[in-house]
Amino acid sequence: VTSRYDEVAGWLRTVLPPAWMDAADSGDEDGLRAAQRAFDDRPYLRARGESGYAVPGWPRAYLGLGLPPDEAQEVQSILRHYRAPTSPDFAGINMIGPTILEWGTQQQKDRFLPPIAMADEAWCQLYSEPGAGSDLASLATRAHADGSSWRITGQKVWTSQTEIADLAVLLARTDPEQPKTRGITCFIMDMAAAGVDVRPLRQINGDSEFSEVFLDDVVVSDAMRLGPPHQGWQVASTTLAHERASISVSRGVEKGRPGDLVDLAKRTGRWADTYVRNRILQLIVEDRILQLTIDRYASTGVIADGGAEMSITKVLKSELNQRTQCMAVDLLGPRGGAWEPTDADARSIVSTFLESRADTIAGGTSEIQRNIIGERVLGLPREPSADHGKPWSAVARSRG
Ligand SMILES: Cc1cc2nc3c(=O)[nH]c(=O)nc-3n(C[C@H](O)[C@H](O)[C@H](O)COP(=O)(O)OP(=O)(O)OC[C@H]3O[C@@H](n4cnc5c(N)ncnc54)[C@H](O)[C@@H]3O)c2cc1C
Repeated sequence: VTSRYDEVAGWLRTVLPPAWMDAADSGDEDGLRAAQRAFDDRPYLRARGESGYAVPGWPRAYLGLGLPPDEAQEVQSILRHYRAPTSPDFAGINMIGPTILEWGTQQQKDRFLPPIAMADEAWCQLYSEPGAGSDLASLATRAHADGSSWRITGQKVWTSQTEIADLAVLLARTDPEQPKTRGITCFIMDMAAAGVDVRPLRQINGDSEFSEVFLDDVVVSDAMRLGPPHQGWQVASTTLAHERASISVSRGVEKGRPGDLVDLAKRTGRWADTYVRNRILQLIVEDRILQLTIDRYASTGVIADGGAEMSITKVLKSELNQRTQCMAVDLLGPRGGAWEPTDADARSIVSTFLESRADTIAGGTSEIQRNIIGERVLGLPREPSADHGKPWSAVARSRG
């Protein structure tokens, strides 16, 4: 037990109900769920922002604690142990805040970082397009300079969090005569600006967690340019590196971990089957290996830097989660097979299973993560590129 642990757990006791803390300490999942249901996150998120525990690695000027990466991760892992509520703005706090911290002007940092820490403003990431996902650098949304502003026209897709986002980071092509990675600029955009049209997409589980976003001559001031003109690819690399790292650390923590399968197998009368037990134990062992790998990265600062190694944990986590959710549906038997299960337990498990199919796509597909591991972790030769060095305008592309 470290003093950091006492300090963070002590603070949590002042803001979370005793029943919550006791249930988390004793691993009482039912008790924890009951405490979570009765809790209003909003005052907690404000208190967390004011305490510095929302963003412990950020400088104090932006409501952080200025802690070095290993100590900031230690704080985060204590908060995770107690399943403390997290900000609904996953993108802002984990990916876009760190990008503004690295690339923003002083005015941008002062204006945008504190509301992220306080969970007062939420963000979305307008990067992917119909013709530019894995090959993001081929994006076609255009920004034209117009005096001290830019005019932006194009289409984005798969944009998460549009239902809560006040602001966005956006990539647009500003110099089509440069090779594809060199003519892109990053902007901060108000989602309420004239010309922004958000159209939600319906997912396989019935939810609408992401949207298409159409941009029709949207005006953005040059003061809202994030990073130097035409260097948006470098800015985007910062966001994407933090995305891989934060998905590795946090996604799937809340529900349906391999350990939960034990309880499910007992409830469904399958625990007596040695084959079932073997499969579950295998998943639990893999989950433990993943957690130990993440702890090791946390202590070396790889997570805070969004190092290429996080592609390893991104692949492990998303593929392990898919196999875990498959196993959960197997355990349900016929109850899980119905397209729309009638009991709440089965409905939640089937919905989580369907949602998990996106894990190996969102934040960069597993194939792309393996390319990153090959090239940047193992030092293998780069993937050949047919358009290397060619101006973007001369590269043949579909219309998306
Ligand atoms: C749940 C979810 C949330 C998302 N949220 C956002 C968001 O908020 N903002 C945002 O900008 N984007 C978001 N995305 C988009 C996501 O980043 C892209 O879907 C992803 O990068 C893949 O791009 P694509 O869908 O265009 O597929 P493609 O790039 O068309 O890929 C199709 C297939 O080809 C494979 N492939 C492509 N290139 C290679 C290669 N070089 N080597 C080997 N295989 C290859 C891929 O792995 C994949 O299997 C989200 C996606 C999902 C699923």
